[in-house]
Amino acid sequence: MHRDQLTVVIAAFNEAEALPLLHPRLLAVLDGLAKEAQVDGRVLYVDDGSRDATWLVLQGFATADPRVGVLRLSRNFGKEAALTAGLDHVDQGAVLILDADGQDPPELIPQFVTKWREGFDDVHGTRLEREGESWLKRATAHAFYRVIGRLSKTPIPRDTGDFRLLSPRALAALKQLRERNRFMKGLFGWVGFNQVAIPYHRDPRAAGNSKFNFWKLWNFALEGITSFSTAPLRVATYLGVATALLAFTYGVWIVLKAVLWGDPVAGWPTMMAVILFLGGVQLIALGLIGEYLGRLYEEAKQRPLYLVDAWRPATGVSSSQVPQVASGVGHAHGTPPARIESA
Ligand code: UDP
Ligand code: MG
Repeated sequence: MHRDQLTVVIAAFNEAEALPLLHPRLLAVLDGLAKEAQVDGRVLYVDDGSRDATWLVLQGFATADPRVGVLRLSRNFGKEAALTAGLDHVDQGAVLILDADGQDPPELIPQFVTKWREGFDDVHGTRLEREGESWLKRATAHAFYRVIGRLSKTPIPRDTGDFRLLSPRALAALKQLRERNRFMKGLFGWVGFNQVAIPYHRDPRAAGNSKFNFWKLWNFALEGITSFSTAPLRVATYLGVATALLAFTYGVWIVLKAVLWGDPVAGWPTMMAVILFLGGVQLIALGLIGEYLGRLYEEAKQRPLYLVDAWRPATGVSSSQVPQVASGVGHAHGTPPARIESA
């Protein structure tokens, strides 16, 4: 009988408290899948340069179960890079992305698999409500999806996080997108293929704290908008055209006034107002251009998206196999330092 392969990729940054709660739930789900759906499930944890015991916890998981692979980045690169690293290290079958904190319930995975079997390439969870999140976060999230939905030509489903299953071909497509400014929601949307949403209740975090504060989220929103739309640049253009027109009309009026009625020379306040206004408009436009230029600069440097510190792949699928310790690249085995992963 044909068996499909599914790798669950989990990025973890300082999640030593939450992981032991999630892991048994996940393994139970994988056991069920193996029996009932003929799916060989694996897990790939990516330690995104955690400073707590996360790496130790993960190595414990890998030693105990041959289905678990672990990857450690050389420092904290951020969730998007960590996920990219995880996806890059999956070379077979489909992947499913899960948060380490238990907010995305692993018990839903069989539903995702069912949709995949029906022929969908991108099955994503859509939040029904956001429990344990302040109204402010909810309101800003809502506004964000509205703005980006309007500005970007790439369809980006709203209230969709990274809880998602990608078919092998969607994964292969995503792997080709090597841009440095990685707004994953947008990248998934860009890939396209057959997409379907699964509505679910997003639980509150099982343990630990959210790694995203408002400042980070604001930057994240900027990232999303600038990576997937050049509309702000156009806003700058229109702003410039509008002010130029205004200034021109005003200029004509001043000249006419001086010619017709003479000029008593006063008008310091008007002068000041005009100068300040124009200065402001110019700075806004420059700032906007700067945002894009900065990203272009990041892109031009062509640095790898992440560096791997240690890599220990899953060794087997069925638990009847002897759990051998993989001799992955990594300091734990005295092998050379970071292997460089690039496009
Ligand atoms: N995460 C990561 N690197 C980071 C920040 C977060 O790998 O620099 C992981 C984190 O461990 C978790 C997921 O990304 O598995 C989502 O993070 P979090 O729960 O803090 O975000 P929230 O659910 O509050 O949006
Ligand atoms: Mg979370």
